[in-house]
Amino acid sequence: MALRVEQDIFLVRQRGREVAAAVGLEHQDQVRLATALSEVARDLLRGVDGADVTFAVVADAHTGQRVLRVDLAPVRPLPDGRYEPQSGAVARLVDMLGVVTDGGDTVVRMSRRVPAPAPPLTPERLAQLRTELASSAPGTELDELAAQNAQLIAALDEVRSQRDELEVLNSELQETNRGVMALYNQLTEELEETNRGVVALYAELDEKSAQLRAASESKSRFLANVSHELRAPVTAIIGLARLLADSASDPLTSEQARQVGLIRSSAADLLGLVNELLDLAKAESGRLEPNWAEVDLRGLFGQLRGTLRALATRPGVDLVVEEPPAPATVRSDEVLLAQVLRNLLHNGLKFTERGEVRLRAEQRGDLWSLLVTDTGAGIPAELHERIFEEFYQVPGTTRVGGTGLGLPYARRLVTLLGGTLELVSEPGRGSTFTVVLPVGGA
Ligand code: ADP
Repeated sequence: MALRVEQDIFLVRQRGREVAAAVGLEHQDQVRLATALSEVARDLLRGVDGADVTFAVVADAHTGQRVLRVDLAPVRPLPDGRYEPQSGAVARLVDMLGVVTDGGDTVVRMSRRVPAPAPPLTPERLAQLRTELASSAPGTELDELAAQNAQLIAALDEVRSQRDELEVLNSELQETNRGVMALYNQLTEELEETNRGVVALYAELDEKSAQLRAASESKSRFLANVSHELRAPVTAIIGLARLLADSASDPLTSEQARQVGLIRSSAADLLGLVNELLDLAKAESGRLEPNWAEVDLRGLFGQLRGTLRALATRPGVDLVVEEPPAPATVRSDEVLLAQVLRNLLHNGLKFTERGEVRLRAEQRGDLWSLLVTDTGAGIPAELHERIFEEFYQVPGTTRVGGTGLGLPYARRLVTLLGGTLELVSEPGRGSTFTVVLPVGGA
């Protein structure tokens, strides 16, 4: 249709709305399209003396969706070939508004999606639409004004109802907000309560560990004092018993000599126990400072081979001290390390009836493993940790003597030297105690 004079604007607007309604656009969209169309029509009439307006329903090139397309071909060329609507809001009324060149003609094009449920436009339906539009008498400006007014009233109504809806939504939102805040406050309170509980618990824990430390210190002090006090009289007993048994003293009857011998050996056992207690107390008190130096394991093993030979008296048991692979040095305290290994080898010899007790060294990366293996009775798995407790002895092994202090002491020393003392053992399959030490010391 042609747009040439002011009055045509109304016509274009009216036709736009009718076409939009006919192709299935919703009421709101009909008004939007008609409004956009009349705005653009006015601009073009003023700017380029009018245009020819064509309506078409086409499938969108990208989405394949049906769109209602309105082309306004200007009577005179657009200034600079461009078109900007007077009001920026116009473009928002439709899906697309702009200048396109189609088949050599430059047109102002606007389009709006047709909703999917709209009835398909068959050629018959199109023909019918055309006849309807052609036959419907174009209204007067007054008719169109009345229609516009009605639309305006409807739009205002809609705005009001939307505002009412918004108010309801707002108050609901406020309500929800209050609920969320209440929940948040409750949670915060609960969290604070829990925090207070945790703090109290920590305070109690601190107090308990302080008590535990104090108790452990008193135990060490007590052990140290008692053993220290005991050492002098026990040494005196041993001395006196030796004197009594001396050939220079008055001769004893054989029974007396046996009893004095018993006193001597018991006192010697007691002295051993006192000394071990003292060592342990010292190690526990933290007053034992390792004397760090490069220790040559070959030398240390040689020394142990010599001193322990005297203890390996059982005929069916061999003591084997393997030569460590050269070079074999570790940063440690030679005296303390010797004490640990001697203790483990001594245990091996004590608890092995047949076979061998073997000491060997292996280096793996930054660690030295010193393994004391025996072919003795072995230790049940459930006692592997217990035997490292003070005074614990596996039932039935007490007859070979001992105090149950050797292993706890050995483990303390190894820890002090920066290593670990582990046990692998099974009844009937012997035991392996392994001292693992870092090459560079603690
Ligand atoms: P002690 O040897 O003076 O009894 P230890 O602390 O050295 O004390 O050892 C604790 C206990 O662990 C021993 O009494 C013994 O029952 C068990 N035990 C230690 N070494 C071995 C071993 N090589 N084979 C079997 N049992 C062992």
